[in-house]
Amino acid sequence: MNRLPCVLLSATTDLRGLFGAALAEIADRVEILDHPAPEPERVRLALGWRPPADALARYPNLAALCSIAAGVDNLLACPGRPPDLPVVRVIDPDQARAMSAFVLWHVIGHQRRFDTYAENQRDRVWRRLYPREARAVPVGILGHGQIGRRVAADLAALGFPVRAWSRTAQGAGPGILHHHGPDGLAAMLAETEVLVNLLPLTAETRGLLDGALFARLRPGGYLVQVGRGEHLVEADLLASLASGHLAGAALDVFAAEPLPASHPFWGHPAIRVTPHEACEASPQAVARTLLATAEAVREGRVPPGTVDAARGY
Ligand code: NDP
Repeated sequence: MNRLPCVLLSATTDLRGLFGAALAEIADRVEILDHPAPEPERVRLALGWRPPADALARYPNLAALCSIAAGVDNLLACPGRPPDLPVVRVIDPDQARAMSAFVLWHVIGHQRRFDTYAENQRDRVWRRLYPREARAVPVGILGHGQIGRRVAADLAALGFPVRAWSRTAQGAGPGILHHHGPDGLAAMLAETEVLVNLLPLTAETRGLLDGALFARLRPGGYLVQVGRGEHLVEADLLASLASGHLAGAALDVFAAEPLPASHPFWGHPAIRVTPHEACEASPQAVARTLLATAEAVREGRVPPGTVDAARGY
């Protein structure tokens, strides 16, 4: 069988270094090429993350552009992307589990006041804090997709009251109240103490995490921000923390990455910073996605995991 040529496209990430070993496993069906690839008209697939500007224009016969991640915002925003070129996301249950563990750590940390124990240990203070039960700490999840559903189910299993919000009406698992649309968001926020952002970045969701939204949360609220940096209006978060309406925030994603050393988030006592590492799709999942895409292209099918480019996710 002819191997389908696939070019690696990233201006920021060493894709061969990260995924080379996993991609070698599918080398009998997909030929991996570095950019700029010779004979660009032969290339049918691209695997990308923040592709170099004008890279897509070099390959006129692309049949699909695969992400290395669940999110595709940077691929959809890529200059010169042909509007009808299928853009494919990774769907990886292990990644959803890893995200869930990350979110649970922060939600439980807020509930059980881990930061206060850390401060007390620094001061050699033995003080019992009598933490609230999980059922007294309502959690709201923005986004009820591949990852949000996993997180919602795991939080509900631990006894947290869980509400989840999405664009469309849909069912939810045991112990989870589902909301959708603008009215649903208002209803969810009013009942939420810990807000978890698991939305994709789209024209509709950019800047959603602003002062007006924080004001609708219960006093003493906490933000777990694992979507995309551009969801958050950073000055509004700082103001909500300063007013005491929000008690704290765990931030994994930022409008500017790496977060500049001078940024106020680094030194803020109520903010936890992690370097966009809540969870990654595994190299094996990326290779599986690329292989499934190659097979679909070969058979003239729409690749599984193709996003709706107009919708933005
Ligand atoms: P999915 O596409 O599977 O789910 C997206 C969810 O968001 C859906 O429930 C969708 O609603 C909802 N949604 C989208 N737009 C709106 C809107 N305008 N209003 C309300 N709800 C909306 O995505 P995943 O769960 O796989 O991933 C979500 C995001 O998590 C990624 O796009 C990425 O930004 C982020 N992420 C971050 C990582 C990190 O390391 N920090 C790692 C992985 C992902 P509906 O169901 O109605 O379509």
